[in-house]
Amino acid sequence: MRKYSVFAVAREAMRGHKGWPQQWTSPEPKKNYDVVIVGAGGHGLGTAYYLAKEHGITNVAVVEKGWLGGGNTGRNTTIIRSNYLYDESAALYNHAMKMWDGLSQDLNYNVMYSARGVMMLAHNVHDVQGAQRHIHANRLNGVQNEWLTPEQAKAYCPPLNISAAARYPVMGAALQRCGGTARHDAVAWGYARAAADRGVDVIQNCAVTGVRRSADGVVEGVETTRGFIGAKKVGVVAAGHSSVIMEMAGVRMPLESYPLQALVSEPVKPVFPCVVMSNTVHAYISQSDKGELVIGAGTDQYTSYSQTGGLHILTHTLDAICEMFPIFSRMKMLRSWGGIVDVTPDRSPILAKTPVGGLYVNCGWGTGGFKATPGSAHVFAHTIANDAPHAINAGFTLERFQTGRLIDEAAAAAVAH
Ligand SMILES: Cc1cc2nc3c(=O)[nH]c(=O)nc-3n(C[C@H](O)[C@H](O)[C@H](O)COP(=O)(O)OP(=O)(O)OC[C@H]3O[C@@H](n4cnc5c(N)ncnc54)[C@H](O)[C@@H]3O)c2cc1C
Repeated sequence: MRKYSVFAVAREAMRGHKGWPQQWTSPEPKKNYDVVIVGAGGHGLGTAYYLAKEHGITNVAVVEKGWLGGGNTGRNTTIIRSNYLYDESAALYNHAMKMWDGLSQDLNYNVMYSARGVMMLAHNVHDVQGAQRHIHANRLNGVQNEWLTPEQAKAYCPPLNISAAARYPVMGAALQRCGGTARHDAVAWGYARAAADRGVDVIQNCAVTGVRRSADGVVEGVETTRGFIGAKKVGVVAAGHSSVIMEMAGVRMPLESYPLQALVSEPVKPVFPCVVMSNTVHAYISQSDKGELVIGAGTDQYTSYSQTGGLHILTHTLDAICEMFPIFSRMKMLRSWGGIVDVTPDRSPILAKTPVGGLYVNCGWGTGGFKATPGSAHVFAHTIANDAPHAINAGFTLERFQTGRLIDEAAAAAVAH
């Protein structure tokens, strides 16, 4: 694979960019692989990359029913942060945070990670107490997080309305300065390119329709729309459709799938310097490099596989955005879309072996898995390669919903973006 460098870009500029090789090939599926990953989102492609890079397992296929990155990876609002409450979550998300810094160099692909700071607003006494508890817990875990007064929050984000008369008054904010955003498609493309470069087959337009198990119950491979593909190990990383695939293998998952929506405004000059989230009113906002305001909403209240979502959710979110940032109230919205997120009862992911031999699952990221992509892929590759979890994902089991040893970020934050 040709390396990207300033010299390569200059050389190609001179010859009309005709010399760039294909980023990744589109091979026909082989009969057998050591590992088949179901789902070519960031987590699945990243898993394949780390299997090859860190564990020398290159006879790997990533099978995708649509196009790579076309699931939640290419639909999310790209907020990256690691200030979760529980020790297990702090370790997992901070592992990812450290990997974001350096991911572009590792993949030789610019994922445009921008540590512009994520500010989470507090609007009432309960919010203030919750945020300050988070900050103390984060600091004990070595996770960056600090408290800002309303005036300091406004200084960090000038468009913020801190009038005490506002419907959602700002009583302070928790700021994680190393949080920020990255370019979502570039994460999928970068991992696909780097994995393909190490011998991984990325197979698009290939939906998994069944999981074949031997007489003694062990995984043998996957049935697909392009025929049976044999595999010694199968990793399911299918986000909102994880429970559908797992059911094919006879495993019932503690997951519910909901539509989650986002929208962008018309592009404007740089006006918004950071990411702002309000869990209480369930709205969050940042500005993309193209100049669009990227705005996220909450999930629909009803489970569904439709990638649209209810209009009232968006209008509620925009009400809140206009209240917090009156400067944006005359802006036009360009487009909205939805993705299907897979939500666990405790709002923490499942990253684990399963009761079926050779079957592994990485799911349950709900509304907030983009930020975890490199860390999740890294420890999931370890879990598949060693048939045992990495210390960082040891607690994120399927069994915790039977034993009650939850990682209850749902109770901690009420949301999990
Ligand atoms: C609107 C929205 C906003 C979000 N905002 C944020 C945010 O700001 N920050 C954050 O951290 N997270 C956010 N998220 C969540 C985040 O996008 C996801 O948690 C994360 O991208 C999941 O990545 P993935 O690789 O597991 O899944 P995906 O990218 O969804 O990949 C799974 C793939 O599996 C494929 N698949 C499904 N069924 C089959 C089958 N039968 N056969 C083959 N392939 C199949 C799908 O086509 C899909 O491409 C948001 C999500 C949405 C929808």
